Amino acid sequence: MSFESLGLAPALLRALADQGYAEPTPVQAGAIPLVLAGHDLLAAAQTGTGKTAAFALPLLHKLSSAGPAMTRRPRALVLTPTRELAAQILDNAQAYGKHLRISAATIFGGVGMGPQINALRRGVDIVIATPGRLIDHMQQRTVDLSGVETLVLDEADRMLDMGFLPALKRILGALPKQRQTLLFSATFAPEIKALALQFMREPREVTVTPPNTVAALVSHHVHPVDASRKRDLLLHVLSQDSRRQTLVFSRTKHGADKLVTFLNASGVRAAAIHGNKSQNARTKALADFKSGRITVLVATDIAARGIDIDQLPMVINFDLPMVAEDYVHRIGRTGRAGSEGMAVSLVSHEESGLLRDIRKLLKDEIAVSDMTGFEPSTPLRLDAGAPRPKQGQRQPRSPQRAQGGQQQRSQGSSQAHRPHGHAQKSGGEHAAGNRKRHRRPRPAAKA
Ligand code: AMP
Repeated sequence: MSFESLGLAPALLRALADQGYAEPTPVQAGAIPLVLAGHDLLAAAQTGTGKTAAFALPLLHKLSSAGPAMTRRPRALVLTPTRELAAQILDNAQAYGKHLRISAATIFGGVGMGPQINALRRGVDIVIATPGRLIDHMQQRTVDLSGVETLVLDEADRMLDMGFLPALKRILGALPKQRQTLLFSATFAPEIKALALQFMREPREVTVTPPNTVAALVSHHVHPVDASRKRDLLLHVLSQDSRRQTLVFSRTKHGADKLVTFLNASGVRAAAIHGNKSQNARTKALADFKSGRITVLVATDIAARGIDIDQLPMVINFDLPMVAEDYVHRIGRTGRAGSEGMAVSLVSHEESGLLRDIRKLLKDEIAVSDMTGFEPSTPLRLDAGAPRPKQGQRQPRSPQRAQGGQQQRSQGSSQAHRPHGHAQKSGGEHAAGNRKRHRRPRPAAKA
């Protein structure tokens, strides 16, 4: 299949050729004709599948066929969970639309309202927003959503995970009823289906990746190690190819900062990206990583959403995520768009239960092997009684884990089957595990 056969405008085809895209990815081939035909769309596709172009291309095509409007009423609204993802979508939309006269702007928190208000006043065709800041603009009447013809909910599952459901409902209530709605989500969890039933009209479905599968080109390696020796093992793994760009995951913001301090002191150029960093610091860290000025980016799960780096060769889990599905999201950063990737997890005995959950989810695709010189004093346990880090548990010997309680989720047998839509993960990555929040979702945080 070719992009030409999908019926996209010649100006878009030229931009795709400039990008070096030879043919549509499966989600693009499935979604583009349906969107062009005017259907509502429910697409199950993870990052790395080309999902951004799957909605951006037909959106640009339709907007350009109608001619440039540039009024104060945007014609398309894209909602995303994180600032990084919003910035990434804008970059992509600008690249695909470079031969068109379609304007787009991002609306997200952490930066001043002024430039966003000015952009909205000048008039934009596409608004790419995180829910919290968009609601601020709605309250201040600095955005007029009455002209929105197409709504895209990107990474809808993650928006629900982050507690944005009330914000989404409010925004959806402010949009014209007559519109096209496109919903992209890594999975079709029941909450996603419920959202679709409520807000979409006879959506067509496109599923390209079965839920919770990882990119086929990623090889997984688990190295058991004592918690106290994880940092040394990390240095050892990094030193095997010091020029390689590596994304390292930390479970907590504080842990990420401490790791960066350690890496910098050890001569590795690293920076952290997480919810406590200012937008400028996050943008700079990402730009430095993309340009190669730093070789290691240490990220928390939420901050890493939306990071799109072509052919990232390696992802290291310094800590395993508390929820197995997050492993899939983390690993989605490597092995993207046809390139090969490597996922390395440094796992201590206390995290055995988390590894067990991940192996169950991936159906045992992860091999476990000791790294010579770093063999653990206590081996991993992969049976039903395998231990897990407890909420708030202090492990003084490990500087990283000692901070871990702050962001851990409540534990229990239901943990491996966590339904989407829990509100433990707040948008701002604040303490997320306490039981009170578990029952009563906090209001959507501003992204
Ligand atoms: P996404 O799933 O939207 O995050 O896209 C993942 C990566 O795939 C991005 O780096 C895109 O630039 C790239 N990509 C998207 N569509 C194509 C395509 N048809 N051919 C090659 N690369 C693509």
